[in-house]
Amino acid sequence: MLTDYARTFFVITTFQALRYLFFAGGTTLLILKASDHWLEKHRVQKVSLQKKDFLRELKYSVVTFFIYGSIFAFIFNPHVRPYTQVYSNIKDYGILWAIFSILLLMLIHDTYFYWMHRIVHAPVLFNRVHRIHHLSTNPSPLAAQSFHPVEAMLEMIWIFPLVFIVPINQKLLITFSFFSMLYNVYGHLSVEIMPEGVRKNIFGKWLNTATHHNGHHRYYNGNYGLYFLFWDRIMKTEQKTKLT
Ligand SMILES: [Zn+2]
Ligand SMILES: [Zn+2]
Repeated sequence: MLTDYARTFFVITTFQALRYLFFAGGTTLLILKASDHWLEKHRVQKVSLQKKDFLRELKYSVVTFFIYGSIFAFIFNPHVRPYTQVYSNIKDYGILWAIFSILLLMLIHDTYFYWMHRIVHAPVLFNRVHRIHHLSTNPSPLAAQSFHPVEAMLEMIWIFPLVFIVPINQKLLITFSFFSMLYNVYGHLSVEIMPEGVRKNIFGKWLNTATHHNGHHRYYNGNYGLYFLFWDRIMKTEQKTKLT
């Protein structure tokens, strides 16, 4: 049993770490190599990324890889996986459920993240836990998983009860985790790459953009959401400050 857990842990941790390093590391390098002209047009804050932050962000990200890997290995090792609601054949529940389940995952994750994020902003938790993530006041993509170990656990633990309750296709779950990682990297880009036309259209104006999340790192409060602005608007926590 221990060998099965170790094997699952190794495969999942390696897969997650490599994809994160590729996308977060790759986009950081691209931003560092970008021309002054492009940066002038796209960066959210009028300051450059600080290379001194990179090592700290990477160090905490490595801890996060192990914590995420432990949670997923606990769920997906062959001794626990059969007890979950995760299914392999998309036809088992049909295509309509597959689409709905992805939307449901996004809404549940966004709701969980918003409230968890607000709770870790309580001074006692902020100073002990969430401060690590906020050491990046103009975050680079490498800050996307730069968390105190307790926060890394809080970031991913929501998936644990969910897979035992909601039927989710395995491939869609992997796709969703990929999308979630990419959106988190986008939120920490420090540059805005979502075209203005998209950000201002009827759907785009409900999205939590890189500009919004950069503003959260800069001012330490407001814009607590992950994918959407629903909760920030309902709870009146959306920042009104002009962010550049
Ligand atoms: Zn925060
Ligand atoms: Zn952040």
